[in-house]
Amino acid sequence: MTEVMLPESRSESSKPPHLVVFPYPAQGHLLPLLDLTHQLCLRGVNVSVIVTPGNLTYLSPLLSAHPSSVTSVVFPFPPHPSLSPGVENVKDTGNSGNLPIMASLRQLRDPIIDWFRSHPNPPIALISDFFLGWTHDLCDQISIPRFAFFSISFFLVSVLQYCFENIDRIKSTDPVHLLDLPRAPIFKEEHLPSIVRRCLQTPSPDLETIKDFSMNLLSYGSVFNSSQVLEDEYLEYVKQRTGGHDRVFVIGPLCSFGSGLNTDPGFIDPDLLSWLDGSQDGSVVYVCFGSQKALTKEQCDALALGLEKSMTRFVWVVKKDPIPDGFEDRVSGRGLVVRGWVSQLAVLRHVAVGGFLSHCGWNSVLEGITSGAVILGWPMEADQFVNAKLLVEHLGVAVKVCEGGETVPDSVELGRVIAETVGVGGCDVAARAEEIRRKTEVAVTEANGSSVEDLQRLVKEFGKVKSQTLSLDVIN
Ligand code: UDP
Repeated sequence: MTEVMLPESRSESSKPPHLVVFPYPAQGHLLPLLDLTHQLCLRGVNVSVIVTPGNLTYLSPLLSAHPSSVTSVVFPFPPHPSLSPGVENVKDTGNSGNLPIMASLRQLRDPIIDWFRSHPNPPIALISDFFLGWTHDLCDQISIPRFAFFSISFFLVSVLQYCFENIDRIKSTDPVHLLDLPRAPIFKEEHLPSIVRRCLQTPSPDLETIKDFSMNLLSYGSVFNSSQVLEDEYLEYVKQRTGGHDRVFVIGPLCSFGSGLNTDPGFIDPDLLSWLDGSQDGSVVYVCFGSQKALTKEQCDALALGLEKSMTRFVWVVKKDPIPDGFEDRVSGRGLVVRGWVSQLAVLRHVAVGGFLSHCGWNSVLEGITSGAVILGWPMEADQFVNAKLLVEHLGVAVKVCEGGETVPDSVELGRVIAETVGVGGCDVAARAEEIRRKTEVAVTEANGSSVEDLQRLVKEFGKVKSQTLSLDVIN
């Protein structure tokens, strides 16, 4: 029997491991997981990516880069009463779309199981976003290990886990003291992550959300788009809660790995590129609040006035935000308003950009840090207050300029801070931002950098899982 199996298992063992990747459809979750997929494919792994039709377009760069090792597995988006037909991504709904989109995707469980069972070469492991905690049970059912992918900071995971473990204790307190966490951080209730606030506000905690999140830490492995350089004390805290095994992989910032999908200056619109090329090094503040948030008219008016008063060069990326009439003419030559989507990472990497007015979404944070830009933080919702605390109070690489999703900034103050921090050089925050940029870069570029080593360890782990799967097949 063994003799018959050997030639078969030898040829099987020389095939690359086949994984299935399941991203969550919000840009801040999807793009880094596709970046990770890209890095895994570069290291010899084959991947099937689960996607719904409305998000297929985001796979195009990956499919072109790896035509023979990436396959899309397209499932129709399960309808939900509170989502309009065609809406399949949080960028079309804002933060409030998360719950219905999460509920819709849960209905893909049976179609995924059917796909897996009928596959001639089924995947040996699943990597899925932490907003898809239910895939932990799914993996149990089909007997493959799940790796949870966290597109968030260790600090946030620590805060979430602490809050969910102590939900009754923190319920009636404001501010909330997270005493057992490193540095014992304190948050106003309104600055806690949105999913925690939702659990605090409902008469009884949203147990499904809590269970879904907690499933992540029970996973076989977890992969973090962060860096030991940025938050090693929270990394240790999280490791203690994942069962003490060593399958915690810290492989970020993914945006900084060479040969990335989105860094090429060719991704910048030619007009914007030549405008940046014509600006002095470090003189431009780049303004963008992620993929989900649109500002109100009052906020836009105040921000426009602040930019005007700062006398600093700027690029302001807007989605549906109402820009004041005449503003673009008044700042013509000194500032650009760009409508729609820009390749943010490529713009931030441009040598002309010295400051980043940001909502502090985790991807923007990593992109800002790795570009060495001084971050001017305006956290608004979700995890952004937690990220801003890390940046301003723990790392010292950012200045807070406003806070709150509804808050209208003080234009005079905003203009003053921009003028004093962008393009002047020598300020403490800029020096610290440059120091952290250099350290973070070492982790992803040098052969013994911590993130490079963890990425290799992760690929080896897939090799181990594959050999175990093959030996089980032989036994069976
Ligand atoms: N992004 C971009 N162009 C835009 C707006 C956003 O490339 O015009 C990217 C940005 O670079 C980041 C992601 O979208 O990678 C947004 O993620 P983040 O976590 O910063 O914020 P979210 O959109 O989740 O609030």
